[in-house]
Amino acid sequence: MTTSINHFINGEETAGSGTETQPVYNPATGQVTGDLQLASTEDLNAAVAAARTAADTWADVSIAKRSAVLFKFRELLAANTAELAQIVTSEHGKVLSDAAGEIGRGLEVVEFACGISQSLKGDFSDQVATGIDVHSFRQPVGVVAGITPFNFPVMVPMWMAPVAIAAGNAFILKPSERDPSASLFMARLWKEAGLPDGVFNVVHGGKDAVDGLLTHPDVDAISFVGSTPIAKYVHETATAHGKRVQALGGAKNHAVVMPDADMDVAADHLTAAAFGSAGQRCMAISVAVAVGEAGDLVVDKLVQRAKDVKVSDGTDPSADMGPVITPASKSRVQKIVGEAESDGAAILVDGRDLVVEDHEEGFFVGPTLIDQVKTEMSAYEEEIFGPVLVVVRVDSLEEAIHLVNANPYGNGTAIFTSSGYSARTFTRRIQVGMVGVNVPLPVPVAWHSFGGWKDSLFGDHHIYGPDGIRFYTRAKAVTTRWPEVSEASGASFAFPSSEKH
Ligand code: NAD
Repeated sequence: MTTSINHFINGEETAGSGTETQPVYNPATGQVTGDLQLASTEDLNAAVAAARTAADTWADVSIAKRSAVLFKFRELLAANTAELAQIVTSEHGKVLSDAAGEIGRGLEVVEFACGISQSLKGDFSDQVATGIDVHSFRQPVGVVAGITPFNFPVMVPMWMAPVAIAAGNAFILKPSERDPSASLFMARLWKEAGLPDGVFNVVHGGKDAVDGLLTHPDVDAISFVGSTPIAKYVHETATAHGKRVQALGGAKNHAVVMPDADMDVAADHLTAAAFGSAGQRCMAISVAVAVGEAGDLVVDKLVQRAKDVKVSDGTDPSADMGPVITPASKSRVQKIVGEAESDGAAILVDGRDLVVEDHEEGFFVGPTLIDQVKTEMSAYEEEIFGPVLVVVRVDSLEEAIHLVNANPYGNGTAIFTSSGYSARTFTRRIQVGMVGVNVPLPVPVAWHSFGGWKDSLFGDHHIYGPDGIRFYTRAKAVTTRWPEVSEASGASFAFPSSEKH
């Protein structure tokens, strides 16, 4: 049975006036489970109009009242984690514990946003000149749109909306069309938390809906997370239309394994970071850079661990990983692994033809480990976004750093070592936005911002944390004089100075 997946505009669920729909699948079974309404231009305009009206009122609501809504939303999200995780797993395919994990990381950002009063405290300078004070503070930008990818249908929207809303903006979410139901569930929780109608809206669609938001004169800022070509396009288009933009793109994350690393720890972490969520994480480790004799040592351990990964329906409590998102994604993984094989790489564990019992129509690919990969192979050059770990062997830390820095992406990276010197050298010289030392997925906690370098981010701001506050607000500096009523005006044609000279 399929259900209709609606928009959420001005506090109400609506099928809208669009005539097109798109099927939503359960990737573990291959069955269609939902019928997604795609927004018409009128639907999009209605969402922007609702957000525009709500933004002005919401920005005037006291910080105490705004944060009270955030606290309530936090409670509701925590209380509904299990149900929301089920929704995520049924459309994304990730295992339930992983779905609950992403909700937990989203909750952390909500908790950060609960403290908005602290984040929005301004600065004050007393008596900068005789009788003159200056204060600066930040105000919301207005209407913000968030365009999000399929791989974290809760966490990535939560990187954006709680901070934007707490800061006094209205928000329009355009979630991925592959797993859209979680966004609707969150919209209902926002309403239940007491958020006024129009402050949080959801519109569904693909390129047309995105283009509508990027060019709409009443949208002030765009937060985007997705693949690099689209991130670049979003950044160029929306900035050309006068908007503030942060566009986070794709990744190819390297983990450097030094010969002095604890190889069991490194192999355990690499296995989980490469194959967890079927490799469909922007911070997934997809390249192991094995230095010197670490090569044979870590590869031997990885082979057994990759073979032990249990692949099944994400609702199976014993599963380590589920399917990939679409049949096209599965075919793409199979094609790239085939190319690596033809190019002379060694396929040590091959998940291409995996079939999961009773789930023959599911979009499953098993963990795949490829050794002896060269940088000119497609398995190295492309973001595979599937359960594939490639091993590139190098002779020194110097060579490893050079390799990572030559890659166009710069999202996450890690080093496994027991040497403080190697770790320090690596963290200082590596041209990547998020770095782990013996930590494979260095996703910063909510009060540090998240973001990559190079082709992994277009724009000037990272997402959530202090950069999130900066992105969703504009600074204003106010210079004030309150003379005694009888005082002369003191006006001068000279440029104002602080009377230093
Ligand atoms: P995607 O780029 O295909 O889609 C992202 C969003 O853009 C979706 O909402 C989609 O509807 C929209 N979109 C798709 N094609 C478009 C087009 N031609 N014009 C306008 N909009 C379009 O990404 P995805 O497959 O959903 O997600 C996986 C990608 O996201 C990976 O590349 C992954 O690395 C990246 N990602 C990055 C981060 C990060 O923090 N840097 C986080 C999560 C995911």
